[in-house]
Amino acid sequence: MVRFARTYWGGFLLAAGCVLVGSAFRLTIQTVGHVHYLPMLAAVMATALVAQRPATFTAIVLSVIADMLILPRQGIANAVVHAALFVAVALVMAEVCHRLASRSALLDSILASVPVVTLNGEGRILRITPAAADLLGVTPEEALSRPFSTFATDFDTTALAAVIEGAPLSLPATGSWLARRPDGEIVPMTIHASLLSPSVDPERMVLSLGDQRQTTAANERMRDLMNQLSKSWRLNSMGEMAATLAHELNQPLTAATVYLHAGQTDIARAGPLGDSAGRALDLAKTQLIRAGDIIRRMREFVSTGARELTDQRVSSMIEDLRPLFDLIRMDTGVVIRVDVRDVGDHVLADRIQFQQAINNLVRNAVDAVAGRELGLVRITGRSLGNQGYEIIVEDDGPGIPEDQMDRIFQPMTTTKASGMGLGLSVTRSIIESHDSVLTVGRSPLGGAAFSFCLSPVLELEAA
Ligand code: ADP
Repeated sequence: MVRFARTYWGGFLLAAGCVLVGSAFRLTIQTVGHVHYLPMLAAVMATALVAQRPATFTAIVLSVIADMLILPRQGIANAVVHAALFVAVALVMAEVCHRLASRSALLDSILASVPVVTLNGEGRILRITPAAADLLGVTPEEALSRPFSTFATDFDTTALAAVIEGAPLSLPATGSWLARRPDGEIVPMTIHASLLSPSVDPERMVLSLGDQRQTTAANERMRDLMNQLSKSWRLNSMGEMAATLAHELNQPLTAATVYLHAGQTDIARAGPLGDSAGRALDLAKTQLIRAGDIIRRMREFVSTGARELTDQRVSSMIEDLRPLFDLIRMDTGVVIRVDVRDVGDHVLADRIQFQQAINNLVRNAVDAVAGRELGLVRITGRSLGNQGYEIIVEDDGPGIPEDQMDRIFQPMTTTKASGMGLGLSVTRSIIESHDSVLTVGRSPLGGAAFSFCLSPVLELEAA
């Protein structure tokens, strides 16, 4: 009905109807005394609250005509003065009503998209917006008059009642609850509760609800990624340590074995007297060879976390890291700009290992620019056609001196007080296991630029 009255022609019909009712009322009560245009003013205001301006003007004109027909005035001057006065007052009142109506329509449409509920003193729902009803899994009509606690497990309406009795606010003004929907689904939500002024009775409290489903899912994804990255970091850094140990210890172990062998030859010349010492040296040699084997096996063991190169999209692998970049920005203030094109970004990669490599390069770049006023780290990715997909991680830090550019890739080379010096050697191993090479140079931003290129998956893209 109201919806029809809001249409163009519906407004005119409403105007005519209101004037008709106003005139009838006026005819009924004119025996009591002169009420002049008063009932017509009500007719104009009712029209203005619902319909558009042309309909309101029609109501004003019809009112004047009806008034003249119903009650002939004493003289034309009297009629014109009354009509002019009425038109002036009606125009002002109509404008006030129009503004009120459009303000309320604006508020309604804003509220429709926000999950908000109002409760009475007993915690029952008096109003609910469509977004709130949607969150609670009901229609607005189904939710009306029901206690809010039926939807929100543990939401304490007795505390709410106590608040209304005048007790201090004992329920948290903001908190997380679980919404129990009629279809059985449990939905995490936040509730921000605030008391309303007593003048809007019977509504006593307004709750604005927040859907936490997306946040919870995003947090879970991020936790999952962090777990995978830290597991892969543990394995990678152990592998790198084992490789370094194997490399570093190999020479002294071999030398010790050779010396023992030479000692054994000398002792053998001493005849039976040297037999026992010779056996001891033999045992020592066996232990040295065993030590070498242990280190080799350890290296093999940690490096057999076999890389599985599959078709991956660079843009998607880096997109996964965005929450981590956001955290870094919050912690350090360093902006991490991502400019990775998704055209031709299908590559052969091990998803987690690739993300580990990017994470290592970004963290190094952030360390290099941290403390600068406008620290910037940029990740760029673009297809080089058949040659592959190039990824560059660069920064506007101090860069790396020419003579240090080779050294920094060696394990346990660090300039940081708490650095382990493994990040770049792990990253280089990861890139090499992708049949690529990690290179470093100077960035146009002023700092260091680390880059590599991954093999494209052209057949799939063509498909
Ligand atoms: P760590 O980060 O533990 O020091 P890395 O192997 O990751 O170990 O880095 C080795 C060294 O390379 C760092 O200590 C730093 O001196 C240098 N380095 C790495 N990345 C950058 C960069 N973006 N800018 C300047 N220096 C860098």
